[in-house]
Amino acid sequence: MSAEPNGTDRNDDVRPVVIVGSGPAGLTAAIYTARANLQPLLVEGEPSSTSDQPGGQLMLTTEVENFPGFPDGIMGPELMASFRQQAMRFGTDIRTEKVTRVDLSSRPFGVWVGDPEAPEPTYRGQALIVATGASSLMLGIEAERRLLGHGLSTCATCDGFFFRDQDICVVGGGDSALEEAMFLTRFARSVTVIHRRKELRASKIMQDRAFANEKLSFLWDSVVDDIVGETTVEGVVVRDVQTGEVTTKPYTGVFVAIGHRPNTDLFRGQLDLKDNGYLITAADTSRTSVEGVFACGDVQDDWYRQAITAAGSGCMAAIDAERWLEAQGH
Ligand code: NAP
Repeated sequence: MSAEPNGTDRNDDVRPVVIVGSGPAGLTAAIYTARANLQPLLVEGEPSSTSDQPGGQLMLTTEVENFPGFPDGIMGPELMASFRQQAMRFGTDIRTEKVTRVDLSSRPFGVWVGDPEAPEPTYRGQALIVATGASSLMLGIEAERRLLGHGLSTCATCDGFFFRDQDICVVGGGDSALEEAMFLTRFARSVTVIHRRKELRASKIMQDRAFANEKLSFLWDSVVDDIVGETTVEGVVVRDVQTGEVTTKPYTGVFVAIGHRPNTDLFRGQLDLKDNGYLITAADTSRTSVEGVFACGDVQDDWYRQAITAAGSGCMAAIDAERWLEAQGH
């Protein structure tokens, strides 16, 4: 656990703004609130099974070519390191800890790291900015850890460009899978959708478009058992769930599009969520259902899901929090 801030008792440690999450949304909120002299405390998370460092989904990508300001592209982790450095430059207090519980029932809001049963919160915030992001659902095979960002991707918009004239596949049968697959046909020589059933979950209109696309084909009743290749994708081991037959297909790219899960477990029962689990924010603002709690980035965005939109909404949350605090007389 990090050192005590300036020797203060952590239980009396009330900050104007506490930010939870360290992707583009959380760190942009930190840059803005720090420059507004609100001395934000940002709890960035801890290394996980998929990433050695916190920093959100960009830590799992290689080259980012669509973030404005980097005409030659930039590696995802390098971009996040720059965000972090910029937030620290203006005095953001960053803690490499994982939030285990929040109490939004009264202000200042309570934020726990470590033991969630501890009687007192670790930090308190007059305002809270939630930027906990979303996680792409993964297949759960060992190869994913090795190859994510190296031929295996969860974002066609981000990475499609790198698969020009290649034979690649998309796993999944929902709207996302078909949308990604159709987008990828702009670059790839062929795109095969691998779906575990015979019927797609995707909407009829998406299905019609997909079936009409000559570069797209389907492998039905099929699951991916493994991905071949040490440093890049060289093939995909596919099993027919009806016959049990296993074949290795020569795809050089794999896009996993089996859904996303917003990281909202901490807030369930305290903030209003949509049916799909994403946080609800009031139209055109970052305001959540609890006054003084603001949300930004993918945790409240089931539509755009881009680094630049997350950063933009982080700025909105910072400005909303700043104006709200000012109205409260802080
Ligand atoms: P989704 O609708 O939940 O579909 C997930 C797909 O992945 C399903 O086909 C599912 O198979 C498959 N799947 C799940 N776990 C799997 C696993 N472990 N192995 C293999 N396959 C697995 O998710 P989504 O496509 O991301 O869409 C989420 C929501 O956003 C939906 O409401 C969707 O309509 C919406 N959306 C809309 C658009 C659009 O309108 N343009 C675009 C994208 C998303 P089963 O079918 O067998 O369950």
